[in-house]
Amino acid sequence: MTFDRNDDFDFENRVIAPEYAPEDAEVENPLRPRTFQDYVGQEKVKENLEVFIAAAKQRKESLDHVLLYGPPGLGKTTLAGIIANEMGVNLRITSGPAIEKPGDLAALLTNLNNGDVLFIDEIHRLPRAVEEILYPAMEDFALDIITGKGQMAASYHLPLPHFTLVGATTRAGQLTAPLRDRFGVVLRLELYEPRELAQIVTRSAGILGMDIEADGALEIASRSRGTPRIANRMLKRVRDFAQVMSDGVITYSTAKVALDRLEVDELGLDSGDRRMLNAIIKYYNGGPVGVETLAAAIGEEAVTIEDVVEPYLMQIGFLQRTPRGRCATKAAYLHLGITPPGTPADDNPRFDV
Ligand code: ADP
Repeated sequence: MTFDRNDDFDFENRVIAPEYAPEDAEVENPLRPRTFQDYVGQEKVKENLEVFIAAAKQRKESLDHVLLYGPPGLGKTTLAGIIANEMGVNLRITSGPAIEKPGDLAALLTNLNNGDVLFIDEIHRLPRAVEEILYPAMEDFALDIITGKGQMAASYHLPLPHFTLVGATTRAGQLTAPLRDRFGVVLRLELYEPRELAQIVTRSAGILGMDIEADGALEIASRSRGTPRIANRMLKRVRDFAQVMSDGVITYSTAKVALDRLEVDELGLDSGDRRMLNAIIKYYNGGPVGVETLAAAIGEEAVTIEDVVEPYLMQIGFLQRTPRGRCATKAAYLHLGITPPGTPADDNPRFDV
């Protein structure tokens, strides 16, 4: 069963897509916190990292390799920058799919200095052959490279600087066990609370020279699905409305009007989220339904559903993951204006969806 493709929702280009989009570059660079003080929330992660960094600095050693995992847009790249900054070393940023051959990794590693941080985003997407030479590089700071074939083959043992690898992935479970085991520090980033996002929005508005009222910031924060990247992106969109509607000041009502216009509801759900919940409720009686079936029904990839759509719906209590599949909760029914099963008919009129 599939939805009518005419009303296909473009998950890739939604305002609330947490993945990096080119339009973010202009806003993200100046907004990226450079120190732990400016990095809002994630207290547990920060506390741990601060201890490890202080200890490594005292011992005058490089920091142990760090794996950061959690949904996109929560501040993994930013943290890698802060780590490098606090350690007083350089940061080199790349991603799993960008390192195509062992030689690409060798070139990256041999160009680092002692202590430098190499950030590999989407580390679960490293090609197998690259991953295999990464093991000894992480463990012994050396590369064993074989060149040529047959009688012409020669092997080289190449010592490397003592670098720190910071790997990022949306799910730690996607990593192979040997790679995961080579990280001394594994930290999970959580979705942010609206209060924390309001702080981020206020800070960003300050940097960008925008006037914002506290309840305007909170309104943007509550609709940003727990994700700083989305909060900053929405701030930028709301700014245009504020310019036209309220002398450039972002008030509660300008934020509300702007975000309503962008079809993001007061809980941060857009039509993509609502379509998925509707599919579970209307076609699978509220679930359980397997993620692959659901993906086919709404014309979306299962990984996008798992990494991007579900974490937030679970955080706000609209979706449950059970061993037999996904289930919509009573709160999800009510939010969509649908009577949850088991409600006496005359208690709660059924809405048509
Ligand atoms: P990820 O690497 O997890 O996809 P990024 O580190 O690129 O996410 O973060 C996206 C944007 O969100 C950054 O440019 C930054 O401005 C903002 N951001 C992320 N985390 C925080 C935070 N804890 N405090 C303030 N801003 C943040």
